[in-house]
Amino acid sequence: MRRARTLLFVWPAALALGQPYDLLLKGGHVIDPANNIDGIRDVAIAGGKIARVAADIPASETRRAVDVQRLYVTPGLIDLHTHVYLKGRASTVVADDVLPHGTTTIVDAGVSGWKNFDDFKATIIDRAQVRILALLNIVGSGMNDDQSKENNVADMDPRATAAKISQYPSILVGVKTAHFSLPGWAAVEHAIEAGRIANKPVMLDSSIYSNSGRNTRDKVLKQMRPGDIHTHMFNDHQLELLNRFTGKVQPWMWEARKRGVLFDVGHGAGGFLWPVAQAAISQGFLPDTIGTDLHPGSIVMLQASVPNTISKLMNLGMSLQDGILRATVNPAKAIGRYPELATLSAGAIADVAVLELDSGVFSFIDSMKKKLTGTKKLECVMTLRDGKVLFDRDGRMVQASSDTARLAPLPTYSREESRAEEGSTIYDLVLKQGRVIDPGNKRYGRYDIAINRNKIVKIAKWLPLAHARLAVDASEYYVTPGLIDVNANVNFIDSTSGVQPDQHSLPYGVTTLADPKATQAVIRRSRTQVLPVGVQTRINGLISSGMNRQNVLAEQASMTRALSLRLNEGVPLTEVVEGATVRPARAIGREDLGVLREGAAADIAMFEIQQGDFALVDQNHRRLSAKAKIVCVMTIRNGDVVWDVHGLSIREWTQAGRYTSYR
Ligand SMILES: [Zn+2]
Repeated sequence: MRRARTLLFVWPAALALGQPYDLLLKGGHVIDPANNIDGIRDVAIAGGKIARVAADIPASETRRAVDVQRLYVTPGLIDLHTHVYLKGRASTVVADDVLPHGTTTIVDAGVSGWKNFDDFKATIIDRAQVRILALLNIVGSGMNDDQSKENNVADMDPRATAAKISQYPSILVGVKTAHFSLPGWAAVEHAIEAGRIANKPVMLDSSIYSNSGRNTRDKVLKQMRPGDIHTHMFNDHQLELLNRFTGKVQPWMWEARKRGVLFDVGHGAGGFLWPVAQAAISQGFLPDTIGTDLHPGSIVMLQASVPNTISKLMNLGMSLQDGILRATVNPAKAIGRYPELATLSAGAIADVAVLELDSGVFSFIDSMKKKLTGTKKLECVMTLRDGKVLFDRDGRMVQASSDTARLAPLPTYSREESRAEEGSTIYDLVLKQGRVIDPGNKRYGRYDIAINRNKIVKIAKWLPLAHARLAVDASEYYVTPGLIDVNANVNFIDSTSGVQPDQHSLPYGVTTLADPKATQAVIRRSRTQVLPVGVQTRINGLISSGMNRQNVLAEQASMTRALSLRLNEGVPLTEVVEGATVRPARAIGREDLGVLREGAAADIAMFEIQQGDFALVDQNHRRLSAKAKIVCVMTIRNGDVVWDVHGLSIREWTQAGRYTSYR
């Protein structure tokens, strides 16, 4: 659980002209590997550039100073492995969604090829706030929903690929090959040929299949040149980092590293296994770069952002300093953009991440959906690109609100003994003894909720623990119907103002979104139930997020923020939940939704209420000193656990038994 934090203050804007700096980050712990700085420094920014880094820069020399004491200040993070060309492939994400993770530069890893790069550039790269660079797929038409198209050797043209790279030398930083599943080495050979002509690195995502003739695990390394990048290093079905009998890092991996071959994490939904990462870290085989392989399958449940991936490695023994180096200087060097990027040197581009290293107990999930319970978590507090603050978690840059937070008393739930229901039904999942708030049924109290497949099958005072295949102790949490958000712009594919539904709904307890403009493509790509309808009946007390691509960054617009704001206005919790379940269901004419009902789809949210001092940015873009915050801990959509921040439904990896994704 997050500790309550004290609110911070912003020095008032100075009045006189002549201050040389636009912004001063004051009192932070600077980690700037390029300049060997690892200590408390002030960082001054002017004209979008780093102006000065020094021990004590007076606040009088700047228009704006922000207190970042007890936080880390680093160069903006660089993610070498992402997938953001939305039209190229369904499993891609909105690029600017990386900004809340301190990431200021991302590299799209081969979604586009030379034939469709121009469209990628025009529709995504030129319009994003984050800096997007790209590795061009060796396949001319790039990645596709039909992965077999990456087997099309006839569409691999090294000359055309290299020619496109030379046309856009400031964006195209190399070549990618992935998903090749035919016998032989055609994909690797063509990609390296393109890299040789363009004089750029190649990133390889190359599976070893014993039936494809590519079963010599070191042969791919022999073809790789110094500077080429092997990604997904911590899985166990590609180059096999470890000897599976001795657990030792293979000698040819050490040799390849010595020769200059680079190893990228490429976390994704299949690239990060706890036992492989732990063995490698303990033997000193650290990754060169911390790419995330960011796509919809890795960002929600697995939370595979750069800071979260660094956190995972830190909980396996890597230092924070090693993590920052591998997310700044190393990737910048790998793509030939150092020291233009990844330094806080005077005169450098002011891309900056302000990070918090939280201590407590946290759950982290790997690609096999197994958990590591750890004690350190790195989180982003502020993100600056070209000196502009694009993400500001605690509202340090916004004015304080004059409103005072007040809380209604929270509902009380007694613990009572109940007679268990008898019978011979086996349940897939039982949420035990949650504090249920189900306004549609006027059901308030502790209940057990049983789910089979995708449906709620039983809601009772007490169900036998032994009848559940999996039981989750929900007794510390509030359990509600999945929330319904009736004011959200989710047209993220065709419009630049829409947000991608899953990332902005599932972690906030939302299982249904209504947007009258939602297209079929958006609906198809979302696990969240997206309804192309608007509010038909005006209802009082409706709570919605109002989210769009602008305010999810600027204000962290979300349903839990909207709920938290109401809670701090003194609205009772039960009424807050009603405004996000029953009332929106009525407003869109879907009264079958927003309630917990036996026989209905299992759309359920679980929340905790954290009390303490929090900063919330309100609808008027003011910073409210809040007394409580609603945080979603688990979301179940159509019977599947799709968000589980404490890993309540997940086994610890050391107790999880046989552990391999080898195929
Ligand atoms: Zn990838």
